[in-house]
Amino acid sequence: MYFHDIIGQQKIKDRLIQSIQEGRIPHAQLFSGAEGTGALQLALAYARYICCTNRGETDACGTCPSCHKFNKYIHPDTHFVFPIYKPSSGKKWVCDDFLIQWREFVLEKEYFGYQEWMSFIKAGNSQGVIYGDEGDEILRKLSFKAFESEYKVMIIWLPEKMGDVCANRLLKILEEPPEKTVFLLVSENPGQLLSTILSRAQLVRVKGIEAGDLRKALQEKFNMSDTELDSSIHLSGGSWLKALDYIQSGDEKRLYLQQFIRCMRGAYTIANFSPDKKLDKQKSLKDLKIWSEEMAKAGREQEKNYLSYSQRLVRENFIMNVGQPEINFLTPEEMDFSKNFSPFINHKNILSFMEELELAEKHIEQNVNAKIVFFDLALKSIMLFKK
Ligand SMILES: [Zn+2]
Repeated sequence: MYFHDIIGQQKIKDRLIQSIQEGRIPHAQLFSGAEGTGALQLALAYARYICCTNRGETDACGTCPSCHKFNKYIHPDTHFVFPIYKPSSGKKWVCDDFLIQWREFVLEKEYFGYQEWMSFIKAGNSQGVIYGDEGDEILRKLSFKAFESEYKVMIIWLPEKMGDVCANRLLKILEEPPEKTVFLLVSENPGQLLSTILSRAQLVRVKGIEAGDLRKALQEKFNMSDTELDSSIHLSGGSWLKALDYIQSGDEKRLYLQQFIRCMRGAYTIANFSPDKKLDKQKSLKDLKIWSEEMAKAGREQEKNYLSYSQRLVRENFIMNVGQPEINFLTPEEMDFSKNFSPFINHKNILSFMEELELAEKHIEQNVNAKIVFFDLALKSIMLFKK
């Protein structure tokens, strides 16, 4: 990762580069930014630039021995700490046990999130933790003299995943930092860190990537229409990962939208039927039953995704109904549908709608029969349209 690989964030890059050129490298910095904004990538490029022996004006050279090692993340003076899990008991597990996977992952992904990393190392349902033993590892690694660079660099990704033991050891080290050592903490939730750690690190606040920079990066990578570009940027909230997610999950979302429309249309027809249209009512009820059977074939993950998609859509429709379009995040297709649908999501039913969807998601999670969950949801929706 070089500075030029990072999307946007020019001001931060300039400031980091300048600090190195002026020889002012703080011993601890906290890069704080949401997932997908490039906080970790900035730390990686910064570490490369610190170690590069032939620095250019705006980036590392790419050809010196240090840069070569950075190409594989095997520089002996740069260390990584990141959340891991314990695949088995009876052994100390530290980050070095996952180092080969980490290198492979970071090289391949460039931008990535915590969940993606955990599934890459096959953590299953385990939470990612930086265990107490890692504190000893950090101390051990920093006790060596730098092998090749002037500085030793310790990059700690998601320090908020540290247990108390490790956090306290880190604090001790930060209180009396070894010479020529640079700590780069990269956090998505700095509020979860010990305040005593926070106060010892200089803050680098990484905001969302600016719209213009995202647009440029998306245009270089994908062939998208202007409307798609606008939606993707709007929905990304400044996160490159969310922008990618929007593009990659476009088809899935279109399917969810169709499924949602089908259920809502059926429920609405039944809720508002007039006695002379009894046939319509029966037809809709039958279709809702088929709908729930089809939904139940999707598999648990898809079913949960659909339900969380529905929660977003219901919420957005309420926002639209109460007239706050400036905070609406809808794709063009969703917008088309919502223009007509939003009047029916109001202050009388919004909370119950959200509760029912959440409950359905919980039931799916608990392995309740999906056919029943979805049919029940459809019936509840009929009641809510009557409110
Ligand atoms: Zn270099």
